[in-house]
Amino acid sequence: MNAQSLRRYKRITVKIGSALLVDRATGLKREWLASLVDDVAALVENGAEVLVVSSGAIALGRTILGLGKRALKLEESQAAAAVGQIALAGAWSQELGRKGLKSGQILLTLGDTEERRRYLNARATIGTLLKMKAVPIINENDTVATSEIRYGDNDRLAARVATMMGGDLLVLLSDIDGLYTAPPAFDPNARFLPVVERITPEIEAMAGAAASELSRGGMRTKLDAGKIATTAGTAMIITSGVRQNPLAAIERGERFTLFNPSRTPVSGYKSWIAGQLEPAGMLTVDAGAVRALMSGKSLLPAGVKRVSGRFSRGDTVAVLAPEGHEIARGLVAYDAADAIRIAGLKSAEIDAVLGYQARSAMVHRDDLVVSHGGEEAKG
Ligand code: GLU
Repeated sequence: MNAQSLRRYKRITVKIGSALLVDRATGLKREWLASLVDDVAALVENGAEVLVVSSGAIALGRTILGLGKRALKLEESQAAAAVGQIALAGAWSQELGRKGLKSGQILLTLGDTEERRRYLNARATIGTLLKMKAVPIINENDTVATSEIRYGDNDRLAARVATMMGGDLLVLLSDIDGLYTAPPAFDPNARFLPVVERITPEIEAMAGAAASELSRGGMRTKLDAGKIATTAGTAMIITSGVRQNPLAAIERGERFTLFNPSRTPVSGYKSWIAGQLEPAGMLTVDAGAVRALMSGKSLLPAGVKRVSGRFSRGDTVAVLAPEGHEIARGLVAYDAADAIRIAGLKSAEIDAVLGYQARSAMVHRDDLVVSHGGEEAKG
């Protein structure tokens, strides 16, 4: 990427990890925040729209409340988030204000992106903020989210927001400068990858086990974010935010990993499906069905080998290749119990088994999205 790099992008979502913004002992890192806001202002000046997904509410609340390092109970971290969020949003608003920019706070719960009607609502509000030239400052609504209904990490939340808003770039500022062939903390031979064409199962294997100590998501959730983003046509950058002016640093040529977007991105309704965070079930299909899906056809019951999970008609399911990696996502046309009964059957046999006249597809092509990494299976 050359010096003008970020200037090519029109709608940029920047996600900031807690460790960058908050120091356990001293609280908010004001100077760092001010330096990032300078970068944001420069992008806005250049005509881009910028959305910020800011972590740090719980970490900041912990410091303000003097809770130390001990593990927090759910209600304690929710209380910490309440205290931290108000300070965090205040700091963003002040710093952006110093550069003449307005800002607005958006706190999302999982359903706000996963339920279609609420998704459209959230999109309309954030879109209006952008129209009014206010920078949306977004976080999970940690004070009300409980474990079953939370994003849990802001990487995937940011990808959901970026694609919901039809953004062309998502930048994840983190404590690591990009993707390596293996976690560099454990493997001295790990190689840095400047560009990732698509997130294949091999790429996913490079992320290693779950979270690093400093960030809740670690590389795993960053690659999940990358899949959501790139499938919907949003490029993603992972880079270190540890230095000041981390966005200007990208332009100066500091190291980052760029995940290229799909050349055949899905949009609108299909990107909402493709980015669903918690599929309710999984359908493992045979090789014939993989080929059919890759050529844009519906998934028929005959090609389904295995059904797992408890889902209802209309829920999102992941479609897995025979080798077990995910190749598509879609809204399933049957409840799990019926899906199990008709898996592997030809269309003509299905009505007799179900006792009613059924739809022919298990997942109709209109409700199905082949993932950007999954396209690899085309060979
Ligand atoms: N929403 C959390 C917070 O603001 C951060 C989640 C994450 O670290 O990804 O404290």
